[in-house]
Amino acid sequence: MGPLKHIIWLLGLTVFAIWQMPNIPNWPLALQKLLPWLPYLIAGLGIFVSVFLNRLQPILILASLVLFNAGMQYFVPQADVSLSAITLYPVLALLLPLNLLFWLLFPERGVQDKLYVLFQLVLLAAQAYFVYWVMVNLPLEYWRWIASPSGYDSVRLPFVAMLTMVAVWFLMMFRNALLSHAKVLDQTVVFVLILMAFGLNAFYQYGALAWTSAFAAVMILLSLIFDAHHIAYTDQLTGLKGRRALLESFLGLGRKYSIAMMDIDHFKSFNDTYGHDVGDLVLRTVAQELDMIVTGQVYRYGGEEFTVVFKGKTPEQVMPALETVRKAIESRVLNVPLNGQEVETHVTVSFGLAARDAQHKKPHEVMKYADDALYQAKEAGRNRIVIAGESVKATKPKTKSNTRTNTKSKTARPGQKRQTAGRKRKA
Ligand code: GH3
Ligand code: MG
Ligand code: MG
Repeated sequence: MGPLKHIIWLLGLTVFAIWQMPNIPNWPLALQKLLPWLPYLIAGLGIFVSVFLNRLQPILILASLVLFNAGMQYFVPQADVSLSAITLYPVLALLLPLNLLFWLLFPERGVQDKLYVLFQLVLLAAQAYFVYWVMVNLPLEYWRWIASPSGYDSVRLPFVAMLTMVAVWFLMMFRNALLSHAKVLDQTVVFVLILMAFGLNAFYQYGALAWTSAFAAVMILLSLIFDAHHIAYTDQLTGLKGRRALLESFLGLGRKYSIAMMDIDHFKSFNDTYGHDVGDLVLRTVAQELDMIVTGQVYRYGGEEFTVVFKGKTPEQVMPALETVRKAIESRVLNVPLNGQEVETHVTVSFGLAARDAQHKKPHEVMKYADDALYQAKEAGRNRIVIAGESVKATKPKTKSNTRTNTKSKTARPGQKRQTAGRKRKA
């Protein structure tokens, strides 16, 4: 669902903008007068926001959009008899898709690195000079090639530009499919390219290119908001939703739900034995296993503690899913480095599970109740699930040690140092 929701709004806006394009001459006069300014206004706003969000890619993409728009707006229409009318259009139409792709391929390093920012801005400026140089110096046979028509009646774009757009479009789609976490901006640019292709194709029509450029800038501005939202609500290490998202989910929980709290057993000694970096990797693995639960929403509460919220479910209904996860984590072999060699180890996790009841009506009370149950699970020997309010029998841990390590030469048993841990949490 993640990327799909963005594709829906992007598609909606793109279709709307293209559908409105032929209607521009029928718009109220005031709107039509405003139109040429819109790309600059909105792109300016987008650049302003990008600086605050410390993102360079959208700045360069927006800057390219307005530069190309300006090129078409001020040079092409007034010169239909001069050489520039025939030459500028094919060059700009060819360079725009390349620019969109190009700026995405540069790694995002933010706007703090002044030298890097300068380097990219120089690249952008050099391009403007390159266009000028090409127009003055390029031999005629190349012009014939660049400007040769597409061969389709409805496509005014020159053949080379059209082909480049299609190729870049597929490359962008391909790149997004490969990226494990494509940003909303990455998805947005795919639609920006479609929109700009329509705009450039209809450049002769009044306001069309200004309209599509402005709309493209709007979509990029929106993508900045969605990307910032994603960062705020997502835990960076595990990719799960974070505590902010958890607390927000409490607002729409209704009257029937269960909450599970999970904590990795003896994780402190795991870190002490294998190091914090390995601990981080294991945290990710555990998060992945937990995220296999489909009936509930998984959050990283903080540290090595996770929360699962099951909307409309009783503890009895969710027990099997939690038990499956507990077993999966328990039996997962972790190959980790220790003193220069790879060793096999395991971790286990404990759960506390609670449902809303007469004494615990608010979500944070239910969560605290689940946390108490988690404490009991720890006391009773770890690697188990305790349902709040049910009696617990302490047994031996279900596996010998939570962090059992097997190598031929050595056996590290980090879990054995501490058997009881005090648990406290702010409610
Ligand atoms: P218990 O079985 O009682 O839970 O024992 P424990 O050692 O896991 O105790 P506790 O839950 O209090 O310990 C939390 C430890 O988790 C402390 C810290 O070393 C580790 N930890 C918390 N957050 C992170 C993290 O983001 N990365 C890594 N590598 N370790 C973390
Ligand atoms: Mg803990
Ligand atoms: Mg722990």
